[in-house]
Amino acid sequence: MSGRLIRLASLVLLLSLSACAASPHRPRSPVPVAASEPALLLLVSIDGLRADALGRGDTPHLDRLAAGGVRAQWMRPSYPVLTFPNHYTLVTGLRPDHHGIVHNSMKDAQLGRFIVADQDAGRVPGWWQGVPLWTSAEQAGIATGVWAWPGASAPRDGLLPRYWHAFDAAVPLDTRVDEIAGWLQAADGPRPGLVAVYLENVDGAGHDHGPAAPETHAAIRAVDAALGALLARLDAAGLSDRTNVVVVSDHGMAEVPDGHYIAVEDMASMEEAEVVSIGQVIGLIPRTGHEAAVESRLVGRHPHYQCWDRAGIPKRLQYGSHPRIPPILCQMDEGWNALPRTILDRRDANGSHDRGAHGYDPDLLAMRAVFIAHGPAFREGAVLAPFDNVDVYPLLARLLGITAQPNDGDPATLAPALREP
Ligand code: AMP
Ligand code: ZN
Ligand code: ZN
Repeated sequence: MSGRLIRLASLVLLLSLSACAASPHRPRSPVPVAASEPALLLLVSIDGLRADALGRGDTPHLDRLAAGGVRAQWMRPSYPVLTFPNHYTLVTGLRPDHHGIVHNSMKDAQLGRFIVADQDAGRVPGWWQGVPLWTSAEQAGIATGVWAWPGASAPRDGLLPRYWHAFDAAVPLDTRVDEIAGWLQAADGPRPGLVAVYLENVDGAGHDHGPAAPETHAAIRAVDAALGALLARLDAAGLSDRTNVVVVSDHGMAEVPDGHYIAVEDMASMEEAEVVSIGQVIGLIPRTGHEAAVESRLVGRHPHYQCWDRAGIPKRLQYGSHPRIPPILCQMDEGWNALPRTILDRRDANGSHDRGAHGYDPDLLAMRAVFIAHGPAFREGAVLAPFDNVDVYPLLARLLGITAQPNDGDPATLAPALREP
């Protein structure tokens, strides 16, 4: 499903939920910082921020963090290059093939259907395999706060983050900063040792207008300013010297030129195959009796895409073993998208095609993600060679002083980022 559709559907759901989100009581005053308090970890994800968006005048606060800390030349997203799979990878260190969020749109033999816009499905623990960072932290006695990070609304071992806010695109950035700063100042309970924040604004603008559009630059500036405001609040609370800040993105964003759309029905008819996912990574389940025909027609190279059977997915993508991955997978070339004809017709009629997309090959320049880290644990001014986003989780576990769960990352990759490797 395209970002625009997801956003529309989620808005409908969220309008009905927002009435119960308001907190009726006043927070207590911020609690002063005791010298013995352990370091805090603030993890921020800016959805869809390209690695090459930094240092171009839109990101003064991110650039300041990078200059005084560590940044990667770029970070390689995991396959598929979509929001939910990559966000859950960042907090588990597991490839999507291993944590079960194999796409933004999935089908599971027991659990049924999953789409990003369905917040009820997001709360079902069975979808989210592996143990997310906030669960391990809570189990180690570290309070956590999570703003909208994918996976945080599903209880794990009966636990949810101590502070939590559901995804809600309608909440203005400054309101989010107020609430998150309130958590960090221990205004309403124990001070969290981990706060994870997910911000969707840049992704939304990138889909609607394209990665190079003025609207996307404006969204980047707005998110950078919100991060600056949050850091200023930490400073005012006397917390900045003891806060390690890690800023990531899940993937970049590619231009979608005019007309770079094909109908998914041109891959396989609805009689021949069930379509599990659309957009850039198309999953197909051939219907009984049509398996051989669909496979022989699709597997291989086509104009603007290529298809594999599960076993034929290239090894470098580290994808294909999870039972939720459909038998046939088609990967669109950069800038191309496959959508149902009904959606294409509607968009042709009102001229509302997305101008940006991700979900393409993780090795493409346009898909490169951001990694910046700053704080007492980190060296100053270091630039790291590119690495895979599975390597972030072991670093985060180490910063929290907790044991990393079994994962696909390598703790050695980010050791050079630390003052004390
Ligand atoms: P995508 O671009 O398809 O990978 O999905 C990312 C988009 O989904 C973001 O731009 C948000 O608008 C939206 N989104 C992110 N998290 C959620 C959520 N928990 N529930 C509903 N929509 C979400
Ligand atoms: Zn994303
Ligand atoms: Zn997106």
